[in-house]
Order: sequence, then structure tokens, then C-alpha cells
Amino acid sequence: MKEALLYEGKAKKVYQAKDKPGQLILDYKNDATAFNGEKKETFAGKGRLNNEISALIFPRLHEKGIETHFIERLSETEQLVHQTEIIPIEVVVRNLATGNLTKRLGIEEKTVFNPPIVELFYKDDELGDPLINDQHALLLSSVTPSELQEIKEKALEINKQLSDLFAAINVKLVDFKLEFGRLASDCIVLADEVSPDTCRLWDITTHEKLDKDVFRQGTGDLIEGYEEILKRLEAIS
Ligand code: 5GP
Repeated sequence: MKEALLYEGKAKKVYQAKDKPGQLILDYKNDATAFNGEKKETFAGKGRLNNEISALIFPRLHEKGIETHFIERLSETEQLVHQTEIIPIEVVVRNLATGNLTKRLGIEEKTVFNPPIVELFYKDDELGDPLINDQHALLLSSVTPSELQEIKEKALEINKQLSDLFAAINVKLVDFKLEFGRLASDCIVLADEVSPDTCRLWDITTHEKLDKDVFRQGTGDLIEGYEEILKRLEAIS
């Protein structure tokens, strides 16, 4: 199924798919990193859990008319996707104040954002993914002003759909990071992954964290939360 390894990131390996031009295989790794790679650990089963969770979420977004790079899950840790040129802008949507935002702006934890806040970060490990504005995004990527507007609108629509999906499993979508990619046709679609690695997910009743913050903050077993998210998503699939 797989041909050449094209790229190895912190959480996934990217291969050319054999005999399928324009398609890639993403192989989810068990590695977890935080603070721009300063903290690193391996968790048996994390790759499978993120692959399975992403593979349940992308089709839900398709049903709601949101185009993504996802084609199908191939194995425990692999999924087939359309090849895209990743736009080097990380789009973060925030429904509740926490994380980097409260540190940066001194806003009280758990302040509700209505409408949600959209932020852009330049995807560059050497620079530590700095916060950027629209003008920087236009300088640093290939997107046009109307495409940037479209990306931000898509991110808010994805927030709506994902917030509903997680609410159905008694989970609050606090914030998340998206990456978009350009298809050969020039269309921009949601790429990368949607998983507890990239979303903050809090149990609505107990406020328990079911995401990567457990690893970032060293407060417990990351795998338990990811398993819980997968179990609840499977129950409504
Ligand atoms: P913050 O900016 O508060 O650190 O993160 C906001 C949200 O975006 C969190 O849900 C976090 O998981 C996600 N996020 C931001 N940057 C990254 C990143 O480089 N990698 C991952 N996995 N998630 C990120």
C-alpha cells in the first residue's frame, strides 16, 4: 500500500500511496510532544486512538458539507487522504479561555467567547509557531485575501459542527487547532487531524480533561481520556 516516506512529523508519518497518484497514507505515531518538542513521550495505543477518532470525525464533517482531505481508514494506525499542499497557518478556534490565550492576554480562565475567537499562528517549529495577523498570513503563505476569509469562515463552521458532535457525547469543545491544505484542483480543504491531540475536550459533568493537556500538564494517563472519547464517539456512530 505504501511507497516512499515523504515526511515525518511529530505525530504522523506521511507516505505516498502505492498506485494511487494524488493520495497519501498518514501513519499515526505513538509519540506525544509538547512545548514545541521540548517534552516528549511515547504512549502505546495513541496512534491507533487518534487515527480511529479522526476517522470517525472527518465523515461527520463531510455529512455537514465540509470538505476534508480524508478518504478512508486503512488500518489501526493508517488512513488514506488526498494529497494537499499544507498551508503553513495553524487556525485556532476558542470557545472558552484557557491555555496560551489566558497566559498571553491575562483573560480569566473559562471566560466564554461568543462569538468564538479565531487566531492564526505561523506553522514554523524553529520560530515556535508565533501568533500572526491576517497581513502576516498573506505574506507567509500562498493564500489570497478571499481564501483567508474563507478559511476563517470554514473554521467557525467546523467549530459549530464539532461543538454539536462533542456535546452529543457530553464533552465541551474548549478550543482546537486546524490545518488546511490545497488540493491539485486549487480548492482548500481541511487537512491534518481532528483528535484529542489537537482539541481541548472537557467532560461536561465532571470537567475532566480528555485531551493532550493531561500530558502537557503531567496530570494523569493520556490514553484513558483518548479511549473515553473514542468509546463515546463509537456509541453514537
Ligand atoms: P494553545 O494556543 O492554547 O496552546 O492551544 C489552543 C488549541 O490548539 C489547543 O486545543 C491545542 O491542542 C491546539 N494546538 C495549538 N497548537 C498546536 C500544535 O502545534 N499541535 C497540536 N497538536 N495542537 C495545537
